[in-house]
Amino acid sequence: MTIQRKPTREVRIGNLAIGGGHPIAVQSMTATKTQDVAATVRQAEALREAGAGVVRIAVDSERDAEALAEIRRGTTANLAVDLQENFRLAELVAPHVDKIRYNPGHLYHHQKDRPWQEKVRFIIEQAVRNDCAVRIGVNCGSVDPEKKASFDPSDSITPMLQSALEHCEFVESLGFTRFCVSLKDSDPAKVVEVNRRFAELRPDVPLHLGVTEAGLPPDGIIKTRVAFEQLIGIGIGDTLRVSLTVPNDRKPEEIVAGREILADIAAGRVRSVVRLQATGLNIISCPSCSRVENEAFVELAQNVKELTRYAQEHALTIAVMGCRVNGPGETDEADLGLWCGPNRVNLKRGTEVIGAFTYDEILPRVREELDRLISQLTSSRS
Ligand code: SF4
Repeated sequence: MTIQRKPTREVRIGNLAIGGGHPIAVQSMTATKTQDVAATVRQAEALREAGAGVVRIAVDSERDAEALAEIRRGTTANLAVDLQENFRLAELVAPHVDKIRYNPGHLYHHQKDRPWQEKVRFIIEQAVRNDCAVRIGVNCGSVDPEKKASFDPSDSITPMLQSALEHCEFVESLGFTRFCVSLKDSDPAKVVEVNRRFAELRPDVPLHLGVTEAGLPPDGIIKTRVAFEQLIGIGIGDTLRVSLTVPNDRKPEEIVAGREILADIAAGRVRSVVRLQATGLNIISCPSCSRVENEAFVELAQNVKELTRYAQEHALTIAVMGCRVNGPGETDEADLGLWCGPNRVNLKRGTEVIGAFTYDEILPRVREELDRLISQLTSSRS
């Protein structure tokens, strides 16, 4: 079976082209400290060798940006940079990468008095000057606050969609079309819906697919597969990433999983009848990146999964995130949220912060809170 692709426009990223009928590219992201140049080069090369069309690297500071120049010299991978709040870093990093990813929801934190349009204009200028493509990356945990406030709080999809559409339009008004879009959520059903709706409205724009914080394998691969089958099966998607919570030396597994999913879809080996309904315990965890401040994070995610096995049949979501940058926002939708700092793990129930606990204290606290949630669920049913 050949995957029938919807025709999007071609976008070049280094020596790779996406959209325009090119094969679907598989990507990943380094999780080493960006300033550890040797380790990051090693990981970028391992990902490239496994078949990564693009390798993304997080840059949060000028020192990260300096490291990126050295990393560029050490790898032939097509490099993308992940900008967080500090949009001005685009100027320092663009000369060393092939693609810049920015998140519309993160443009509000620095220079609050400047309109987002000026910040995007700045990023696009750097991209043009340095022959870079751009990804407008919208993420469920960090949606543009103005967009969020304009829609019913129970509708998390329309604000994401509107934010992406608005940025496409603005970037195009600057005469720039060398971009793709991503719309990521940790819920595969939402990933399917938001990407379908976007593709209907903007069939020309290439899409990068991903289920964010999919978690530990094999569950993380299954969640991602469910979304990808339903999208790629109808021709949507030009690049993809399978985000997995795995230790650094196993990062190439993201590429292997992505390629396997693509091969299975092409061969008709699909399992899309699986619908991930909220009937049981759902553990989500981020794939980690250079922002993780304590390497105990992956082990913590595994331990939370083990500890909570007894609660399998309860429809609750637990989110485990690696850092203080995205952790607080990305855990808002979960019943229990954890995010890691250097020495402590923060814990919250819904949007209410419970406190910060040492890595030794956290598991009993999770158990305590989970027991409380289960008894609330059980008593509300009786
Ligand atoms: S939550 Fe933090 S550590 Fe995890 S992938 Fe996102 S930015 Fe990286």
